[in-house]
Amino acid sequence: MGEAVIHLPAPVLSQIFEAAEAAYPEECCGLLVGLDDEAGLRVTRAEASPNVAEGDRRKSFLVDAKVQFDLMRGLGNGPERIIGNYHSHPDHGAEPSERDWQSVFYPEHVWLIVAVENGRAGRAAAFRPHGGGFHEIPLDSGAGKPGSSP
Ligand SMILES: [Zn+2]
Repeated sequence: MGEAVIHLPAPVLSQIFEAAEAAYPEECCGLLVGLDDEAGLRVTRAEASPNVAEGDRRKSFLVDAKVQFDLMRGLGNGPERIIGNYHSHPDHGAEPSERDWQSVFYPEHVWLIVAVENGRAGRAAAFRPHGGGFHEIPLDSGAGKPGSSP
């Protein structure tokens, strides 16, 4: 499992930014499909999901179980698989919240978080659960400036 950086193609990041802005002031969410092997950790596409959280969707998210199920069935035996999830933080930074930490069900999953300020997507950052928290993985979107908006 290579995780010095996570490769996230610019078009996929743009798609996530658009979803984050469209969902504002609520959180958007979805799943990251990709590969995690000797060649590194890379996202190949993002699968959007409705945010089905029952509480305040400006501060929480829940990926629709049907979206996850259909995606897993479609991916079959790979090589691509679900390697993580993404969601937005409306008017909050791109750092995992306490609630996010409580929502870690897949310890190997990458979490991509997009900060949205006043309806505009800004910083994106990737994390992986580690020990008692998350540790950040540098983003490489192939466009020169990792983790910044296009
Ligand atoms: Zn969050």
